[in-house]
Amino acid sequence: ARRAAAGGGGEEDAGGQQPTIFSKIIARSVPATILYEDDKCLVFRDVAPQAPVHFLVIPKRPIPRISRVGPGDTELLGHLLVVAARTAQVEGLADGYRLVINDGKHGAQSVYHLHLHVLGGRQLGWPPG
Ligand code: 5GP
Repeated sequence: ARRAAAGGGGEEDAGGQQPTIFSKIIARSVPATILYEDDKCLVFRDVAPQAPVHFLVIPKRPIPRISRVGPGDTELLGHLLVVAARTAQVEGLADGYRLVINDGKHGAQSVYHLHLHVLGGRQLGWPPG
């Protein structure tokens, strides 16, 4: 039986093992425009881009959210950042870009499989909404 939602915003998936849409993208059962892949991570374009360039970097291991990581994830998280920066360079974001990780309800996280957003290709505003 599924646990009751604790905090809304998809929180019922936040600590659980339910596969998300991103697991299906990793498994290729849902299509995506894939920019990079290795044994630890996958990079693909966001289906609803918020900037001219908007892609996601995800670990293949389904960590639900950044607030759930531990010391054992240090190397993996560093790898995701390096892959994000390298892919941004390949995508031509020489004038800069933004990395975003949304966490939980207040962070407006909607998919509970950890992902880094990389947004660029236009002047972004600050602060975010
Ligand atoms: P969050 O709000 O959880 O930080 O971001 C989830 C992101 O995943 C959103 O920007 C949304 O557009 C993107 N997304 C959701 N479903 C899909 C999908 O099926 N394919 C792709 N490529 N992106 C998705």
